[in-house]
Amino acid sequence: MAAYSSFSSQEINYNGGEKMDKKLISRWSAIVVLIVILAAGTAVGAEIGGEKKQTIGAGEKFETDYFIFRSEEPGPTVFLVGGIHGDEPAGAGALEIIRDDLSVGAGKVIILPRANNPALEAGERYAPGARDLNRAFPVDEEKDWTGRLASEIWNIVIEYEVDIIFDLHEARDFYQISDSVGQTVILNPHPDGALLALHLVTEINQHLPPGKKRFTYISPTVQNSLTRVANEQLEIPTFIFETTVVMPMEERVSLHEKLVYLALDYLEILEK
Ligand SMILES: [Zn+2]
Repeated sequence: MAAYSSFSSQEINYNGGEKMDKKLISRWSAIVVLIVILAAGTAVGAEIGGEKKQTIGAGEKFETDYFIFRSEEPGPTVFLVGGIHGDEPAGAGALEIIRDDLSVGAGKVIILPRANNPALEAGERYAPGARDLNRAFPVDEEKDWTGRLASEIWNIVIEYEVDIIFDLHEARDFYQISDSVGQTVILNPHPDGALLALHLVTEINQHLPPGKKRFTYISPTVQNSLTRVANEQLEIPTFIFETTVVMPMEERVSLHEKLVYLALDYLEILEK
C-alpha cells in the first residue's frame, strides 16, 4: 500500500523518458522496464483519485464493504464509520451518499458506511443474540461474531494508520432538553481535536434555528466504544456525531453529511 502512494507519476515519466541511454541497456531489459512501467501505471491509476472497495468478514453474517479514497498529496488518514448501532441509520445513509460523491485532494479517507449490517437489517441497536458493538472494544478474546466484527474494524484502524475517526450515531432525544445526547459533537480529549469540535458546532449551528436542534460540543465518548479506545490506546482525536431520531430521516442524514464535509474541509482533504 505504501509503495503505491509514494509512487508518483513523475517517477513513471522519468523512468520512461527519452534521456535513458539505449546503449547501456539490452533490448530485453528495455522490454522488462516497459512492462513494469505499464503495470505500475495501471496500479497507480486504479488507486489514486478513485474509490477502492474492500470487504470485511467475507462469508460471515456481518460481511460488509468499506471504501478507500486516496490522493497523491500528503494529508491525514480519516476513518468515517456509520451503522454501528442498527437503530441509528442516518449515519449509514449519509456515508453512502458521501461515498458516491467524494473527491479527495489530499490524504486518505476510509468509509465504512454499514459497520453492523445484521443490526441495521433488524432495525435494532444490536442484532438478536449479538452484543453491543460499541461496547466491544478493546477487542476481546471471546470471539463471538460481535467480537470478530469489532476485531475487523479495529484492524482497519491499525492497518491504514488512521489519524482521526468520525463515528456517526443517533440519540433518542435532544441533549438540550433531556439526558440523551441528540445533536452533539462528542470529542475524546486530544489537543488536535478541540478546535475542530468547536468549528463543527459553530458552523453547523448557523444552519439551525435557535433551540434544541442546535449542536453542543461535549466530551468524552462512552467507555469500550471504538472512538474511546482508539483515543486512549492510539492517542488520536476521535469524534462521535449524534443526531436525534425524533427528527425526520432526511434532516438527520443531511446533518451527518454536513458535519462530515465540514470536518473534511477543515482538514483540507477535499479536492479544491
Ligand atoms: Zn449509537
